[in-house]
Amino acid sequence: MKGMKCICGKIAEYNKNMKFNSYEIDGWECKSCGEAYYNPEKAEKILLINKLKKHKFYLKLSKVKSNLILRIPKEVGDALNLKKSQEVEFGIKDSNEIVIHPFKGS
Ligand SMILES: [Zn+2]
Repeated sequence: MKGMKCICGKIAEYNKNMKFNSYEIDGWECKSCGEAYYNPEKAEKILLINKLKKHKFYLKLSKVKSNLILRIPKEVGDALNLKKSQEVEFGIKDSNEIVIHPFKGS
């Protein structure tokens, strides 16, 4: 990726290790005026995730044979890039807390 023109008229250089709301993101940084331009797709996703983090979902468990099924809301699946058949790490944190970690990648 090459540089892009900054509002100050100088060239902002591509930087793949930027921070945006404590998340890692890529974008363009102007060394001249300090202006930062974030990768718009990733910035949008980060903002969406921040919004979803504040939201509590109340879900109902269903049952297939003897297993309980939890349906992850579409907006959460989309924001976290969850796909059908994807493997996740599932663990019990406490008697009333479950933790699900999607594997990193793709
Ligand atoms: Zn600038």
